[in-house]
Amino acid sequence: MANGKFSHGDLSIVLKMSEDKNLRKAGLKVTLPRVRILEIFESSSERHLSAEDIYNKIREGGDEVGLATVYRVLTQFESAGILMKQNFENNFSVYELVSDDHHDHMVCIDSGEVIEFKNDVIENEQDKIAKEHGYKIVDHKLVLYVKPLNGKK
Ligand SMILES: [Zn+2]
Repeated sequence: MANGKFSHGDLSIVLKMSEDKNLRKAGLKVTLPRVRILEIFESSSERHLSAEDIYNKIREGGDEVGLATVYRVLTQFESAGILMKQNFENNFSVYELVSDDHHDHMVCIDSGEVIEFKNDVIENEQDKIAKEHGYKIVDHKLVLYVKPLNGKK
């Protein structure tokens, strides 16, 4: 493992079942960067991670991976429907594992922290507004840019 070269056999041993399945289901070959990135998303307490976050976590774990590779794998995972990319203002984007349940985000402009929320009143009001204009919503994104309240944090 120290030389960073894996044969497929070696990788299968360190792979968790879910990661193995997810990669295969997506038609992606099992490679070290792909496995590590998937592991990070599945074990992270923070659901939303930037490419730089991922890059740093891999390096902290002692593996040599270039930032370009991280970007490439994230894009592949996005195309494969494993990850969802959230684009915010100022070229700030994060990735998260695809999930069925809809949610919106708020972004702290001080810390860059991304917080998920869902509010049924807002959801219903949006449906109503679209309907009033003769449409139904097929998708939407709502992002709140926030700052901590005085005294908080
Ligand atoms: Zn999210």
